[in-house]
Order: sequence, then C-alpha cells, then structure tokens
Amino acid sequence: MTESQKTRVASEYAEVVILGAGPAGLVLGNLLRGAGVDCVILERSARTQLAGRARAGYLAANTVRILARHGLDDGLRRRGRPHGSCEFRTGGGRFRLDYGGLGRGERHTVYPQQQLVADLLAYYQQTGGRIEFATEALAVHGADGDRPTVTVRQPDGSPATWRASYVAGCDGRHGAARRSLPPGAVRHHRRDHGVTWLGLLAEAPPSLDAVGYAVHPRGFAGHMARTPEVTRYYLQWPAGAPAGAWSEERIWAELAQRMRTEAYGPLQRGRIVQRTVIELGSDVLEPLRHGSLLLAGDAASLISPAAAKGANLAVLEAELLAQALTSALRGGDTDALDSYSARCLTHIWRAQEFSQWMIRLLHAAPENGGETLFQDALRNSRLESLRTSRTTQDWFADHYVGI
Ligand code: FAD
Repeated sequence: MTESQKTRVASEYAEVVILGAGPAGLVLGNLLRGAGVDCVILERSARTQLAGRARAGYLAANTVRILARHGLDDGLRRRGRPHGSCEFRTGGGRFRLDYGGLGRGERHTVYPQQQLVADLLAYYQQTGGRIEFATEALAVHGADGDRPTVTVRQPDGSPATWRASYVAGCDGRHGAARRSLPPGAVRHHRRDHGVTWLGLLAEAPPSLDAVGYAVHPRGFAGHMARTPEVTRYYLQWPAGAPAGAWSEERIWAELAQRMRTEAYGPLQRGRIVQRTVIELGSDVLEPLRHGSLLLAGDAASLISPAAAKGANLAVLEAELLAQALTSALRGGDTDALDSYSARCLTHIWRAQEFSQWMIRLLHAAPENGGETLFQDALRNSRLESLRTSRTTQDWFADHYVGI
C-alpha cells in the first residue's frame, strides 16, 4: 500500500508515541525498541524528504559514545572522519588550535546529519520499528492526565488519533508538541542574538584541513568540511535579505575577502546547492515536561549553530529520555522521568553559554558608537587570549567538543 492510500479511521495505541524522525526521535525510537517498549514514530515528511535535509555535521565525542553504546554507530565508524583542528583568521593574522590535543583530548567526528538520520532509520526499520511517514501531528491532548492522545493528519488528508501512555515531542521548534503546551505550563526563555547567517552547501572540496572562522570588518565567514566533495560555508548576512539576494559570484568573492584568501590561499569553488537564512536565536523551555508529554531535541531547546551543539544535545536527551521511559514503563519506577528535565537542562544551559560565547567571539558588535568600540576591543582580547593562553585553549577545547 502506498503512503497516500493508507487511511486509518479507528484510533491506534502505542505505549510511547514519538513525534518527529530527526536525530532525537530516531535515537529514542531505537532505544525504546531495544528495551522492548512499544512505540511508533509519526513523521510529517515523506521518507524521501528526510534523506535530503543537510544540517549538522560535527558529532561530539560523547554523541559517538552514545551511538556506539547502543550499536547505532556502524555507518559513522565506517564513513565518519575524526576532526580536531580549527583556524581563526583575524585582522591580526591567523592561528590554529589543534583542540584534539587540548583539554580532555577529544575530537569531533565529521558525519553529515542526513547520513546519520538514514542510518538510524535503517536500524529502526530493520528491527521492525513502526513509523508513519507523511503523517503530521496536529495536537497533543490530555497531557496533564495519564492517557494522552495525538491527533494527526494522514497522508490522504484524513484525520486519525493515536492513544499513548507517553508522548515524546521530538518534532522541532515549530512542531505540535510545543504548540500543545497550555499557556503557563512551562517557562520559555528566549534570546535573539541579533545576527543573521546565510548557510551554504557547496559542491566543492574543503579548502583547509580545519574548521575555519574568519572575523572580518565586513562580517563573519565560516568554513566547515562535510565530505571530501562537499563543504558548508557560513556568511554573516544582512538582516531581512532573502537567501537568493546575491549571485554565486558575489558570494564566492565575499567569502574570499572575509577569509583573506589573498594572504592564505584560494578557496576551492563549486556549485552552491543549498542556501538557508539562519537568524541566530536561542530558546529553552523549562521544564521539558508537561505531564505525560516530554520534549527532546530542538523541541526542548533551540541553540544557534555557532557552536554545533543542536544535534548532539538531541542525541544525549534522547538517551536520557529512553532510560527514563523504560524505567517507568517496565519497572514502574518514575524517578528518572521526574529528574529528566533537570538532567537535560544542566547540559542545555552549558551548551547555550558556550554558544553565546562563540557568537560574541565571531561577530562585531552592532553599531552603537563608543559601546561598539568597547565590545570589539573585548572580542579582540578574547581572541588574543585564545591564541596565547593554554588555560583558555584547554577550556575552549573541552566546551567545543563536549556536551
Ligand atoms: P529535527 O532534526 O528538526 O527533526 C524534527 C523532525 O520532526 C523532522 O523530521 C520534522 O519533519 C518532524 N516534524 C516537525 N513537525 C512535525 C509534526 N507536526 N508532526 C510530525 N513530524 C513533525 N547541530 C550540531 O550538533 N552540529 C552542527 O554542525 C549543526 N549544524 C547545523 C547547521 C544548520 C544550517 C542548521 C539549521 C542546524 C544545525 N545544527 C547543528 C542543529 C541540528 O541540525 C538540530 O539541532 C537537530 O536537527 C535537532 O534534531 P531534532 O531531532 O530535535 O529535530
């Protein structure tokens, strides 16, 4: 039966209904199935769309450990590449930090998020996991009781209802889980960092063997390898400008200028295959639970991509949530569920703090007279400390790779 032919009229039940098949939902689904907990994943996109969503690429050492602990690391062990170096380019010169040899000595593994999602989906389906594609969750009802339901729009547009013991909201910041929280049920902490980036994917080999961060009077530019053939670039971008505002030629010229290629060598150019405008913002919901509705990943907290933490937090929270739900459903012990939110928030706030530090490190202060000069001098002092102080470098390494 094709997705569009499926019509479900009666309501169905799963112990845990998971909204969203991103890193959070798929790790959770795999771990619950491994523990014998009955679950279903409801995913708004069609299967083919999931595989094309290029986003994160740098997996923290702890993320790799979590995936390995549960046998979910086959693909990344074979195709992921260890990475432990970044380069800062500023008006005063350039310096490199081999962070893999600093602090705790941990490295990233470069592995594109869409490949990780494809691997996790394959594991889940190979072990018989239930997933409904092209099925959009509309709302979660009755979360303050112990019999929540989820109303959905099925592939053919008809409505259906899922009953559950628990609902896991892993459906991102615009998903149904967040929308279904009654006013006042959780606190919503928000910060707009006042900076916009254009995220680019180029069919071009990486131009340096390090993550590149360029701090320039014209704005920030970033370089991050994805695969030997594909590189992600970021450009600080005029607020409100559409993604297509500049030609490819202008984008490459701007990247070259900000990355000071005249001094440090050219960028390898290629076709730009993705442009995404990203307004750097952060938010945190507190607590990450409303009765039988629990939040994980971007649904729980949005973090700017400046420090590459979002997918890593999603995996970490999914593991904690799987353990907590398994204890509650298999052992009748709800202690871990009760402490789930507090345990995640410790990691989330630490990551938010570092991400904010990175944003201040990489961007000029907004135009504000003498205050701007003061902020810029602070930023230069921070960069100098990072260049020269072993203590600052160890601190940076631990926070950059840690989660
Ligand atoms: P998502 O990956 O967003 O998955 C949510 C899923 O829910 C989606 O499949 C969506 O289709 C589905 N969904 C949404 N609404 C509904 C609904 N109503 N019903 C059913 N399904 C629904 N993080 C890093 O750690 N490292 C990086 O290098 C990094 N780089 C990034 C670069 C960019 C350009 C961007 C945008 C993000 C980056 N991130 C990075 C962040 C990272 O991609 C996210 O934090 C991560 O995807 C969060 O995973 P998630 O499972 O919570 O949510």
